[in-house]
Amino acid sequence: MPDPLDPSRAPDLVLASARQPGNEACVDVHVRGGAVAAVVPSRQDASTAPAGTRVVDLDGRSVIPGLWDEHVHMTQWALATNRLDLSDAGSAREAAAVVGSHVAGSHATGVSSRIDGSGAVATLVGVGFRDAVWPDLPSLDLLDGVTHGRPTALISHDLHCVWLNSAAAQRYGVQAHADGLLREDPAFALTRELGNLPDAVVDRWVQQAGKAAAARGVVGIVDFEMTWNRDAWLRRISGGFAALRVEAGVYPQDLDRAVAEGLRTGLGVAGSNGLLTVGPLKVLIDGSLNTRTAFCVDPYPAGGHGLLTVSEPELLALLVRARQAGFVPAVHAIGDAANRVALDAFEAAGIGGRVEHAQFVRSEDFVRFGRLGVTASVQPAHALDDRDAAEANWPGRTDRAFPLRSLVAAGARLALGSDAPVAPLDPWTAMSAATARARQDGRGPWHAEQALTRQEALTASTRGRGRIRVGDPADIAVLDGDPRKVSDAEFAAMPVSATLVAGRFTHGSP
Ligand SMILES: [Zn+2]
Repeated sequence: MPDPLDPSRAPDLVLASARQPGNEACVDVHVRGGAVAAVVPSRQDASTAPAGTRVVDLDGRSVIPGLWDEHVHMTQWALATNRLDLSDAGSAREAAAVVGSHVAGSHATGVSSRIDGSGAVATLVGVGFRDAVWPDLPSLDLLDGVTHGRPTALISHDLHCVWLNSAAAQRYGVQAHADGLLREDPAFALTRELGNLPDAVVDRWVQQAGKAAAARGVVGIVDFEMTWNRDAWLRRISGGFAALRVEAGVYPQDLDRAVAEGLRTGLGVAGSNGLLTVGPLKVLIDGSLNTRTAFCVDPYPAGGHGLLTVSEPELLALLVRARQAGFVPAVHAIGDAANRVALDAFEAAGIGGRVEHAQFVRSEDFVRFGRLGVTASVQPAHALDDRDAAEANWPGRTDRAFPLRSLVAAGARLALGSDAPVAPLDPWTAMSAATARARQDGRGPWHAEQALTRQEALTASTRGRGRIRVGDPADIAVLDGDPRKVSDAEFAAMPVSATLVAGRFTHGSP
């Protein structure tokens, strides 16, 4: 294979007049064979480019390495993005209006309503409505009046009720009353059926979600969907998915199969156009903050320490097995006791890896991440979602909750992610939360001393790269603002004009 860095070969692509954040001088980024071949001072005379070289003038825009979301549940995210959020509807009439404008919108664009080439229309699913506080009542007529015959089913916030229209009642063979409501068992049964979709539907939604991520500058995800992920991704890639690189996680129940098939973390999967790699071995050892099942040193105010769902000897045995089989463990640990258990197991097994979440960490454990080679895979948006829950459940100790600055200062490597669908698959949301420790909601920052700098957040979202470097894959995001200079609000919503994976445009093409 020819050396992409061989200077005697002409570049395939030149991104001309680009700026690296924090540097005023314009550079030209040369791409050859899918890699960054050179970064040189801008020549200003693109007309002299060799024949066969495509030159794209970036007009002084900022370029950064393409972004990674290090923790995603991609199928769940694709489903969530195709379900209409009705949590803000203050009445049945308002909910119907939201549904009506969505149906009218997708009718006009034709984008998201088709199941496949057969012309059947997908059921529109809405979620999160709270009819208990509505001043008016749902009805079949109200929903029929805004849905133009598109089957529509709305699942209530507490999941105990489904409001459907006549077309959905017909499609799913259920009896529709004048109020349009199913309650309890019939509601649960329909909700299950709504989640049980043909691969073709889910794959199309995943493809759309991939394109939407590319439009935010994302070039790769680590997918922790709780299933045997390799075959699903091979099917999607052969069906045209090309927007992102994917590292597909493996769960312990599939470890035997993975080993038998010769898989190990980091292995490129044949037949995936270079996009699919075997990801880490995901091991859950505790619960979550909001359910008070995160395993903690001190008791919760309501009592109990949370749950350790795997015993320490079992965890150690699993990590030893992972090491022998070439798998990098990614251990889900939220509470401070769970983080201690995870670090102890990494140390005893003599293997590095990742802790997923690391939401609450004992001060004496900060330094162990760097020393043991354990990356802290963190989701900064959760810090803002969960600040009230953290103050309530870890009172007086939240100075070491979501401790991004403390981890970096102690030598830990951070990797930022969303845990989509828990937070949106948008690294700018994560990086904004990490750097501002605040939303644009006037509430003010939460433990601002734990904030990262913008450059640290970029580095933690680009697999440690931080800036465009010769020899790296030509995975690049082109931004309309300088991420080191824009306001917090602009940073949170950074406009991305183009994204490339291995030198191929996956979004935009300026
Ligand atoms: Zn997760």
